[in-house]
Amino acid sequence: MSRWERLAGFAVVIAAWLALAWIGVAVYSPPAPRAADVPDNEFSAGRARVILEGLVGEGIPHPTRSPQNTIVRERILGYFRALGYEPQVQVTHSLPPRFITVSRPVVWNVVVRRRGRQPGPAIMLVGHYDSVDRGPGASDDGVGVAAILEIARMFQVLPPPRNDVIFLLTDGEEDGLVGAQGFVREHPWAKDVKVAINLEARGTSGASLMFETSDADAWLISFFARHVSRPATSSLFAEFYKVFRLGDTDFTVFKAHGMEGYNFAFVRYVKNYHTKNDDFAHADPGSLQHHGDNAWQLLTALADFDLDRRTPGKAIYTDVLGQFVVRWPASINFGLAGTSLAAGLAACVIARRRGLFLRFKWRIFLAVPLPLLAGALLVWYVGLQVRGGWIDNPLPALAAYWCLALLVVFGSCRYTPLGRTDMWSAWTGVWLFWNALGLATAWYLPGASYLFLLPGAIAVSTALLAAVLPQRISPRGLLAACCLGPIAAGVLWLPMQVLLYDGIGFMLTPVYPLSAGLVTMTALPLLSGGATSPQARTSEAGSVQ
Ligand SMILES: [Zn+2]
Repeated sequence: MSRWERLAGFAVVIAAWLALAWIGVAVYSPPAPRAADVPDNEFSAGRARVILEGLVGEGIPHPTRSPQNTIVRERILGYFRALGYEPQVQVTHSLPPRFITVSRPVVWNVVVRRRGRQPGPAIMLVGHYDSVDRGPGASDDGVGVAAILEIARMFQVLPPPRNDVIFLLTDGEEDGLVGAQGFVREHPWAKDVKVAINLEARGTSGASLMFETSDADAWLISFFARHVSRPATSSLFAEFYKVFRLGDTDFTVFKAHGMEGYNFAFVRYVKNYHTKNDDFAHADPGSLQHHGDNAWQLLTALADFDLDRRTPGKAIYTDVLGQFVVRWPASINFGLAGTSLAAGLAACVIARRRGLFLRFKWRIFLAVPLPLLAGALLVWYVGLQVRGGWIDNPLPALAAYWCLALLVVFGSCRYTPLGRTDMWSAWTGVWLFWNALGLATAWYLPGASYLFLLPGAIAVSTALLAAVLPQRISPRGLLAACCLGPIAAGVLWLPMQVLLYDGIGFMLTPVYPLSAGLVTMTALPLLSGGATSPQARTSEAGSVQ
């Protein structure tokens, strides 16, 4: 393979990465809101916006036990009654009765039940209607409440489903999940609930991300994959949510009570979260549409599902560019990572025996992390200057991180054994390193392991094929195979940058240069040099006929 062919491959990879970054911004933006005049059985953000304006349009904060809280609750009760439901108000406390003290605040949950065709377990859709006292809570969690009221309307025009459906609008969430605790502790319907869907917000825009599930989530993820049309989810979100302790929601209480389910939130423009800017004008209609679509698609499917068919087991999962969800059992995750690494080593041994490596030295494995560390250190230092929370437009900063990482990784690799070796040796070094990281994350941070495991396995499969069948693959086919790993890495890592920024901002700046360094290094083999001796040069030209 000539130097020019490898450079063409490199150009294809860079073009694919640029396209993926652009696609990532597009697919993880909220969908277009549907107008108020779409058919009755479609979720319409246009209609739900009218409800939202009716609830919180004045922009007055309504924390629990405030006069405005009572007004908002009465409006919610009015909506349910107008739809033909018989809503209950559950008066409950933050602490069990045995802890009777002066600080035992009372909160008021709104609870509605729609009976299904047969008695049995129920599905519950939850949002909280209280706000903090600093802001009117239009997105947190007025959008969730408005979505639930629009869904309650849609349910009334359908024939009764198989299972009961409970709508729970909790009070006192911002006071420490008081309403949710009162519901699970005291309400007689709580024991019927098998699956809860919680709608939340930590910002005023962005896609509705499914960021948390209950522990045995394999069946939930498979259900989600089949029924949600615009999935935005990954087991990485749950890991980040846990590691960064991004706060609790009512879902924490339901999980502790043994319910299974899904937790959704949109998290863009976190600077508006819990401020006076969390008002009707800032609430993104697209986020409302996405929340509503997700909840409606899952709720209608779950309402007709035989809940006794739930299966145990945990999953590793991710959506791919918002189109579909890839998933596998967590129980085989470590085995998969080990197999991929072993297959990579086997490919390396076979390729070496067949003379595909021109200048292979074991020390290139030691050299692989060097450009990565150099890039990370420099960009980390630069990152210290913009350390902090969230800025208005992060894209230039994120792009700058990537450009810097690209320059440092490609610039410094020339001075390491990695930059002076041949393409196949560099390729093996880079991808065995990725597969080793896949194995390490499968052990320590399983929810994040797919980020290494999927590109690593794809690259290793193509390497194995190339090592076993070097005579039958054309040089162009070999080049295409060589580009597959970097493109697969780009598919998973590039769109994630924007979502990560929405979630954690610049709280942990090294995440961005490390991601950038890891992904850009996968293209290094395409830049690696050829042979030095005439004999080796001939063998390089002849090795891929
Ligand atoms: Zn909230």
